[in-house]
Amino acid sequence: MNLEDTIVAISTPPGRGGLGVVRLSGRDAVGVAAATLRGAALEPWRASLAELLDAEGRVVDQVVVTFFRAPRSYTAEDLIEISCHGSPVVLRHAVERALAAGARLAEPGEFTLRAFLRGRIDLPQAEAVRDLIAATTLYQARIAAQQAGGSVSRRIAPLKEGLLELIALLEAGIDFAEDDVSVAPAAEILRRLQPIRAGVRRLAESYQYGALVREGLTLALVGRPNVGKSSLFNRLLEQDRAIVTDIPGTTRDLVSETAAIAGIPVKLYDTAGIRQPSGLVESLGIERSYQAMADADLTLVVVDLSAPLQDEDRALLAKAQSQGRCLLVGNKADLASGPLPGPRGTPAIAVSALTGEGIPRLREQILEAVAPQGVFEQETGFITSLRHAGLLRESASYLDKAAGAVEAAIPHEMLLLDLHAALRPLDAITGATTADDILNRIFATFCIGK
Ligand code: GDP
Repeated sequence: MNLEDTIVAISTPPGRGGLGVVRLSGRDAVGVAAATLRGAALEPWRASLAELLDAEGRVVDQVVVTFFRAPRSYTAEDLIEISCHGSPVVLRHAVERALAAGARLAEPGEFTLRAFLRGRIDLPQAEAVRDLIAATTLYQARIAAQQAGGSVSRRIAPLKEGLLELIALLEAGIDFAEDDVSVAPAAEILRRLQPIRAGVRRLAESYQYGALVREGLTLALVGRPNVGKSSLFNRLLEQDRAIVTDIPGTTRDLVSETAAIAGIPVKLYDTAGIRQPSGLVESLGIERSYQAMADADLTLVVVDLSAPLQDEDRALLAKAQSQGRCLLVGNKADLASGPLPGPRGTPAIAVSALTGEGIPRLREQILEAVAPQGVFEQETGFITSLRHAGLLRESASYLDKAAGAVEAAIPHEMLLLDLHAALRPLDAITGATTADDILNRIFATFCIGK
């Protein structure tokens, strides 16, 4: 991939729309735009009208051209956006004209890659752009937007800074031992190491919640026929449906939809009514329901409160409990009199899919069942990337090793190996530390004076 090329791509989704945007970026973006369009003013930071022509010079579309001059553009290169009318034919023609004028087709993600390689954004920010585009709930979008604004790097920066200072302190102690630079005592090293360790570990652990926000959770609704699973399914969906596009084909023929609960996408599986199999087809249905329960993060076992609990209900609950997390939901509370006849020790939630009674509480209980207490007040400061989580865990384990080394009075040369090993994964998240970074700190922190 040559980064000196000028690239072009259609930036809006395939299909017809009111508008469609073609983006150009690179050294010759202005030249390519001028050759592609007639009458484009191409003044920086201004939008102007222009005409897109066909091969015979006839007007195909009237477009608006906006010129973002380097380095104040998305890619930090000269960048031009051509807003055409949203016909796929017109958009493709605009791209072909740009190709004929010397541009090449952008690779997937190349606009953002260039922004990263030109140093305008760091890696977590680039990753967040992808998450922002993939967001299915507004909450996910907001979190991704914070990360695109640099929230992950801002959290990691002070930890990395602390680690660098500690490395500089120890290296100075070794390199300049003859120059009266005192060697840091173990207590001092541990005092500095402790908050870094705690911070890295806390951030790594925040992925538990972050993964939930990013990936959402799957929920299986099971119960005997007619207990009201489908009604409950629709109730849970009605308030806030997550906007999901191209769901990859699921092989099982369960009904599935994605709702949003507190901004977290929740994929609901309405399973086939479970009862004792009387034929092969039915037993396949039940097989699938059991599979859905096994795959789900949480199973809602739905029972009918207007009728006595049956053996099948109990068996189903036992099955769900044996497979993982589950909640007992007593539906048709509007018809019920008296307390919920749940089996002893099983928390149950009374709801009515018909009237909506108890549904908000059910939503809360769903979240509480899958996420650690209190995490929902957390707005920022958690990580949502599996890559970042793995690297933070790696860093944390080297920091633990380093702390052990200090306590065991292992020579600083060896301790430094652990500290460098702890720094590397943090570098892999936010960008590399150079030898100069460390040297500069050594010379800035210590008055060598010789
Ligand atoms: P499923 O077979 O478990 O999916 O059950 P359905 O959702 O199809 O519901 C079975 C019947 O129970 C339907 O006639 C629903 O209208 C009724 N139903 C579902 N939920 C409630 C409820 O909360 N209260 C009352 N009174 N009826 C309900």
